[in-house]
Amino acid sequence: EHRLFQEALPVMERIEAAGYEAYFVGGCVRDTLLKRPIHDVDIASSARPDEIEALFHATIDLGKEHGTMIVVYHGETFEVTTFRTEGTYSDFRRPDEVTFVRNLEEDTLRRDFTINALAADSEGVIYDYHGGLSDLEQGYIRAVGNPAERFAEDSLRTMRALRFASQLGFEIEGATYEGVQAYAHQLKQIAIERIRVEMSKYLQGEAFPQAAHLLVVSGVNQYLPGFDRPDIGQALAKLSTWLSPLIEAGIERDEALVWAFLLYELRIGSQARQLLRTWTFSKQFMSAVTEMLTIIEKFDQQEFDLESTYHHTDAYVDLIYQTFACRNLPLPDVATMRQQLPIQKRQDIVVNGKDLMDILGLTKGTKDIGVWLERIERAIIQGDLPNDLEAITHFIRGD
Ligand code: ATP
Ligand code: MG
Repeated sequence: EHRLFQEALPVMERIEAAGYEAYFVGGCVRDTLLKRPIHDVDIASSARPDEIEALFHATIDLGKEHGTMIVVYHGETFEVTTFRTEGTYSDFRRPDEVTFVRNLEEDTLRRDFTINALAADSEGVIYDYHGGLSDLEQGYIRAVGNPAERFAEDSLRTMRALRFASQLGFEIEGATYEGVQAYAHQLKQIAIERIRVEMSKYLQGEAFPQAAHLLVVSGVNQYLPGFDRPDIGQALAKLSTWLSPLIEAGIERDEALVWAFLLYELRIGSQARQLLRTWTFSKQFMSAVTEMLTIIEKFDQQEFDLESTYHHTDAYVDLIYQTFACRNLPLPDVATMRQQLPIQKRQDIVVNGKDLMDILGLTKGTKDIGVWLERIERAIIQGDLPNDLEAITHFIRGD
């Protein structure tokens, strides 16, 4: 992680050499102080986007009018954001107008929580204008400034408060918590894509078991699609039961996995896809979750058989297996079943569609081919039919 800071230093130094200020800000400062891993470093600077552009060979405009540029330097990317204040968010996505300012302190005023408003310079000196260090030490999520105003400005912050509580195991400070309760209803106006990011991080948090009740007791659940139901609290508690052993074992919780177990506990069956669609998840993600959901159901019903082993993605099976294993629940012998599989995929069958047409004497485009392939595939997987041409020919001819 310190590697990332090291790699960012030349970027900071070039900005400084040109006469501007540059600081590490946000998550990377917070997480480093907490001795947690960081995944990216964000830089705040007094330089305007055009000025940043002029300083580096490779930059990507991420929204110049909002002050955000990506600097590509020695193969790494760094987000460099101009010091700014924010106006209101009438489209609930982006502030209507941002005003660039020339100093760090003014920039920190727009940040959501004190622990996220810390900055560090290239020498490692920490700038703490809102008591973030003390909140980090005591484990508090506290709004910067007046909580009601800050949540009214952007109510995504209500969901973010829960997300940080779940990731860090922190307590949401009293007035801040009241702000969460009072402004959660405005989440209805926030773009679901933004909420989704925070929701997944909430579900994946290392302290999720301690924060699971917060979504319901704060009332935030009422304003989230598919979460306004009486059994949501129970489902979240059950999700904790699945995730706790993984957390204790230091095992990462995949995003699709946490959603799959949540939907499983909500017992929404075939409506799962619809709910995920409302949350604007990608097709690929929806397929991952629904497939995992099927695997969970089969594991739970002890119906996971040789055919399931063949049809389901190994990586998903392994994730579900691990989750069940962590709770010492009964498990299918997946390893042995995999060894027993005579074929791994349909292409492994010695005959293809064209061969089948020859054997059957059929013409192109016949639906029967697909039906036959499936029948042959199943028989091979079940061990009823050897995967060789002669046996398959006999099988088809019925002799
Ligand atoms: P993570 O490690 O999950 O990326 P982060 O703190 O970096 O956590 P981001 O969502 O990446 O969170 O945001 C970066 C910084 O931008 C935050 O630390 C905070 O200072 C500020 N920020 C982000 N979203 C908001 C918001 N909705 N309102 C106010 N400040 C925000
Ligand atoms: Mg970040």
